Amino acid sequence: MYSNNQINVFIETSPILEEIKRAKPVSWVNPELQSVRHAAKFSIDMNDMRAAEQLWKRFAPFFVKAFPETEESHGILESPLLEIPKMKSLLDGNKEETKGRLFLKCDNALPICGSIKARGGFFEIMTYAEHLALESGLLKKEDNYSVLTAPKFREFFSKHQIGVASTGNLGLSIGIISAKLGFEVTVYMSADAKQWKKELLGKAGVTVVEFDGDFSEAISVGREKTKSDPNAHFVDDEDSHDLFLGYTVGALRIAEQLKSQNIKVDADHPLIVYSPCGVGGSPGGTAFGLKQIYGDHVHCFFVEPTHSPAVLTGLVTGEMSRISVQDIGLDNVTDADGLAVGRPSHFATKISKSLVSGIFTVEDDELFKLLAQLKDTENIFLEPSATAGLIGPQRLQKTDYVKTHQLNLNNATHIVWATGGLLVPEFQRKKFYERGRQLLMT
Ligand SMILES: *Cc1c(COP(=O)(O)O)cnc(C)c1O
Repeated sequence: MYSNNQINVFIETSPILEEIKRAKPVSWVNPELQSVRHAAKFSIDMNDMRAAEQLWKRFAPFFVKAFPETEESHGILESPLLEIPKMKSLLDGNKEETKGRLFLKCDNALPICGSIKARGGFFEIMTYAEHLALESGLLKKEDNYSVLTAPKFREFFSKHQIGVASTGNLGLSIGIISAKLGFEVTVYMSADAKQWKKELLGKAGVTVVEFDGDFSEAISVGREKTKSDPNAHFVDDEDSHDLFLGYTVGALRIAEQLKSQNIKVDADHPLIVYSPCGVGGSPGGTAFGLKQIYGDHVHCFFVEPTHSPAVLTGLVTGEMSRISVQDIGLDNVTDADGLAVGRPSHFATKISKSLVSGIFTVEDDELFKLLAQLKDTENIFLEPSATAGLIGPQRLQKTDYVKTHQLNLNNATHIVWATGGLLVPEFQRKKFYERGRQLLMT
């Protein structure tokens, strides 16, 4: 806990914290952004990213066999990078003031769990499963990993427990793949997690433990319970190296997609990426990966709800993961499921501190409006949290970042990372859409 006095000292040093504390939408530019070449050495690098990509390749035959919907893509889980010109025009009121091209990275369509959590969550479980299987001698790296669907592997994995805490999507990704491999898996769900997500997990054979409290409580209890069993693995969203590394592979894939669409990224052609941010793992991991590839020619912005600006609060105060949004008097209540977290990831925030260009905060109402507008213009459905990045290009143009970094926006490629949506049931989609339409009319 922090005293009022301490919080006031933070505000004196960084007046923007007063606005953040009052849940006002803010646009923060990171004064500690560093050139990648000068940034401190991190605990992971490009070699780790390449190795992570290889792990995905080894598991491709497993996916084809275990999840037939991945057959067409040969077991590689990837999503399209789509240009969304109609949405771009709508966003700037048809004044064509937003310069550059606007793309959507459609992780809402990622197979199996329909969110960006497939990248980090699946990767952490694959890493753990492979480690166990190699160590036991049941598996060799040269094997065709479709053997992992065999009964002897299911039986082997069933002796191991996996635990995870989640506001929804991480639980879905960890739960679905762990259960498929045969693990005993328990998902500790915060109170704000949607009922349909809990039901879906139950059907997949996952044990769901429900909490009255928020994500912090779910993760504390989940961590403690899981770690009391020496044969158990806890997927720790607040401090996970493997989740982070899984997300970085998304950067390698985007680089391929940009290349195949003949899109240049260099000093005169900036790439600007806007990602919804919860604990900061997925936006931090993809930003880290993109920085490894494009250096200072890529600019990564995060977007958080005004009621849950966990990473922003950690960075602005310098307190990192020691401080929560509750500590500055915010309630951490938002309809943006994946973003309803009060405390940032320890692992990710250390890295984002010097790599993130800035953070914008957005009100929930705005997310629902964007959801309806994207559906109307491009016929793409996203869940509310996944729309957050769409505020990015307009917000950026109003900051002094453009000038200080001499961004040539006429040649810019803006990528909005759409992080989830596929699994949202029809009745829920309708409700979200109608709420957005209603808000647009008033
Ligand atoms: C989890 C999630 C995010 C944010 O990822 P973090 O790693 O928590 O920052 C964004 N969008 C959706 C849909 C999510 O589920």
